Amino acid sequence: MLSKILGNGALTMPERVDLRSDTVTKPTDAMRRAMAEAEVGDDVYGEDPTVRRLEELAAETLGKEAGLFVTSGTQGNQVAIATHAGRGEEVIAEAESHIFLYEAAAVSAIAGAQIRQIPGVAGALPPEAVAAAIREPNVHHPRTALIEVENTHNRAGGTVIPLDNLRRLREVADRFGVPIHMDGARLFNAAIAAGVSAAEFARLADTVQVCLSKGLCAPVGSVLVGPRDFIERARQWRKRLGGGMRQAGVIAAPGILALTTMVERLAEDHEHARMLAEGLAEVPGIRVDLGRVQTNIVLVDIAGTGLAVEAFLASLAAEGVLASAFGPTLVRFVTHRDVDREGILRALSVISRVVKGGVTA
Ligand SMILES: *Cc1c(COP(=O)(O)O)cnc(C)c1O
Repeated sequence: MLSKILGNGALTMPERVDLRSDTVTKPTDAMRRAMAEAEVGDDVYGEDPTVRRLEELAAETLGKEAGLFVTSGTQGNQVAIATHAGRGEEVIAEAESHIFLYEAAAVSAIAGAQIRQIPGVAGALPPEAVAAAIREPNVHHPRTALIEVENTHNRAGGTVIPLDNLRRLREVADRFGVPIHMDGARLFNAAIAAGVSAAEFARLADTVQVCLSKGLCAPVGSVLVGPRDFIERARQWRKRLGGGMRQAGVIAAPGILALTTMVERLAEDHEHARMLAEGLAEVPGIRVDLGRVQTNIVLVDIAGTGLAVEAFLASLAAEGVLASAFGPTLVRFVTHRDVDREGILRALSVISRVVKGGVTA
C-alpha cells in the first residue's frame, strides 16, 4: 500500500526533486578535483594525455580497438552515422529512436541519409522485419548503409534490449553485410540491469556511443568506440562538426571517474525507479507498465486522473517535484544519483496529493 510506503511521519524534505532526466546530475566532488588537477594538452594535435586515457579506457571497457571523446551523445551518434552512411543512403532504426525523434533531423542534415523506421517491441527491433527492410540492389532503391539500435531504449521506458535480440540482429547484419551502430547513451544501465558487462552488449555492434553525462554524473561528453580505422575517419567528422577540442582533459578527467567509479551505483537508481513505479501504480488514475520499468526510467499514463499533462506537471513543480511531458497523456520520471530515497518518497507523496486534490496550480 502506498500509505504504508509513505508512512505518517514527517519526511526530511529536500529542496527539489528533479526527475526530468539523469542529465541534471552534478559532477561529484572527486570529479571537480580531477578537473582541477587534469594533465592537459592540445587534443586536436593528439597531445592531451587525459583525453587519450579516457578514449583508451572507454575502448577497453567496451571491448573495442579505439575511442573518440565527443561533446555529446548526439554528436557521438551523428559522427558515427556520417562515418557509416552517406548521402542518398538509408539507415534502419527503431520507429521511436532518439536519432529519429530528438536529434533535430541530423541524419538527413549531416550524413544526408534517410531513416527507415521499423516499429520495435519494447524498443527491440524484430530481426525478421529488419531483414525484410534491407534493400536489394535496384536503381530505385537507396543502399542500406546501417542498422541502428538504442540500448536502453528511452521512449520504450528505459527498456533493456535483450542480448538474444541483439545476437539475432547481428546474424541479419552479417548476412547482408550491414554494420550496426548502438546508441548506448544508457548502455551501462542496461548492463547493470542485465547483470552482464557493457562489453557483452557492445560486442554485438560495430560501433557504440555511450554518454558520460547522464547517470554516470560527468558534466559533459560521450565516447564513441569502434575499430581503429573507423575511429580515425570519425575523428575527421568530429572536426568537421566543430568537435575538435583543445585542452579537453579538463572535461575528460571526470569522464574517467564516470567509467571507473559510477557504473555499479546505477543499481541504486534502478531500485529507486522500481520503488517510484510501484508507488505510482497505487495512485488511482495513473497507469504504469511495471514490466517496462527495467532501469532508471518510469513512464506513466495519467489519462485516468482526468488531469492534463501540463497542468499535472505544473502542480508537481509548485511543490518542487519535476518530471517531463512525454506525450499527450504520458509523463516521464528519471531517477539518478542526485535524488535519494527520501526524494522518491517525497515525489510519491506530492503526486498522490496532486492526483487526489485535482490541479491546484
Ligand atoms: C540522451 C540521449 C542521447 C544523446 O543526448 P545528448 O543530450 O546529445 O548528450 C542519445 N540517445 C539517447 C537514447 C539518449 O537518451
